[in-house]
Amino acid sequence: MAYDANNIFARIVRGEIPCHKVYEDADTLAFMDIMPQAEGHVLVIPKVAGEDIHSTPPESLAAAVRTVQKIARAVKQAFGPPGIMIAQLNGAAAGQSVFHLHFHVIPRHAGKDLGIHAARQADPAVLAAHAARVRAALE
Ligand code: 5GP
Repeated sequence: MAYDANNIFARIVRGEIPCHKVYEDADTLAFMDIMPQAEGHVLVIPKVAGEDIHSTPPESLAAAVRTVQKIARAVKQAFGPPGIMIAQLNGAAAGQSVFHLHFHVIPRHAGKDLGIHAARQADPAVLAAHAARVRAALE
């Protein structure tokens, strides 16, 4: 599948649509998932165009994973979950719905089921408050 330069995350990288940003560097961007599967669900993306693990350059993947570790630490500090799940889906058959490579950083609690994937938009005010908590933990 050819990369669609107008996919939602490409548009977020270009600043054409807003996001609740928690972190940015030259190569990566991290922001709240608009339909979180748990409180504190953050997405990490490389800025480079690539729809999945197969088509994203290794150096961009490495940069993204460095940011994933940074964000996982901050989410743990901000929300205190005993577990953190990192997920990265490739292809519609795997459940991928946005075709710009991304990692999910999702807090997990024993006995608490994961929310349904991409099901319901969260209150923007709540997402803004959660982003502020993650940003504060990054300072
Ligand atoms: P995938 O299914 O591709 O692994 O995950 C895509 C994720 O992007 C889903 O968890 C979904 O909630 C999230 N998402 C979809 N559209 C938007 C959007 O416009 N903004 C943000 N912040 N997240 C989005």
